[in-house]
Amino acid sequence: MEQQKCSGRDAITGQAITVTFDSRIRSVAPAAEGDGPWLAPGFIDLQVNGFAGVDYNDPSAAHDAIARSLRAQFARGTARLLPTVITGPKDAMAACLRNLAAARAAVPGGGAIEGFHVEGPHISPEDGARGAHPLASVRPPDFDEFRGWQDACGGLVRIVTLSPEWPGAPKYIERITAEGVVASIGHTSAGAEQIADAVKAGATLSTHLGNGAHQMLRRHPNYIWEQLAEDRLSAGFIVDGIHLGGAFLKSALRAKGIARSLLVTDASTPAGAAPGRYMLGEQPVDLTPEGRVVLAGTDRLAGSALDMAAGVANLMRLAGLTLADAVRMATVNPASAARIEGRARGIAEGERADLVEFRCAPLGALEISGVWIAGERVV
Ligand SMILES: [Zn+2]
Repeated sequence: MEQQKCSGRDAITGQAITVTFDSRIRSVAPAAEGDGPWLAPGFIDLQVNGFAGVDYNDPSAAHDAIARSLRAQFARGTARLLPTVITGPKDAMAACLRNLAAARAAVPGGGAIEGFHVEGPHISPEDGARGAHPLASVRPPDFDEFRGWQDACGGLVRIVTLSPEWPGAPKYIERITAEGVVASIGHTSAGAEQIADAVKAGATLSTHLGNGAHQMLRRHPNYIWEQLAEDRLSAGFIVDGIHLGGAFLKSALRAKGIARSLLVTDASTPAGAAPGRYMLGEQPVDLTPEGRVVLAGTDRLAGSALDMAAGVANLMRLAGLTLADAVRMATVNPASAARIEGRARGIAEGERADLVEFRCAPLGALEISGVWIAGERVV
């Protein structure tokens, strides 16, 4: 690949730089100060169920539609993502992973699919904690089923979200983490001891902390405090201004610390599309004109209509973060949490050449003018 250059201000360090790259960053040199655009590593979304009208939980999702959904995410600064398959019948979940892995290998830009996140089905059966996952398909941890997922997608499952309330959870966590997969706690009604046991067994992440939770919760102890206080857990947050109130978001980010916090979209099918009815797996969902994604006919949230660029802007607007910290939560922090190779150090020599060029509009929105993935310009 031919070498290219781009210049701007590193959104994390604030320094004016010129970056020389092919598929990897070859050098980062100081540049003259100016009012050039911001440069950031490409955004990494560890949890996305669908986008632009395309449902990743549909085992027959067409590959050209999946490619279109990727392009729509590239336009919002996402350069790497973990399409997320949620609780469903056993065969359907494996079929979704098989289809997504085949699309990854076949379509232009498919390499942006870094791996997969399997959210469920070993989650809490309780209302509230279960979120929009269908009760009929909730089931206890089953390592053979995990093997089946890996067989279906060529070993690309990177994160599994489960609830430690199942008696077999610690053993299951030990086995999947021994294979390099990240065990994430989510959709749980686990007690303090069960959470501690999960962390001891190797869990290192909390899935969309503060969501997938009961409407009413004992003030303390409860599973939100336990996870906030546990320094061995990083945590994903859905920052769409709907899933989490500003006070919780600020408090949670301060408690967890920016270095252990990351932005996820949890986007579902209607994200980046017009209001109306869509499918999420076997369930109909509505995107309301206010931007809420709900199970059809209810007010239960079923994912978001968020994209990563809007999430970065929301982190500044709702949580008062600096641009640098908001960008960290969308780039190096998810890379570390999901152990994504060549992405944990920011814009640095030897890192993969995943780059986003943008300006901040007066209201804080990110106006994206260029995106490169492994050195290839996609926007
Ligand atoms: Zn969820």
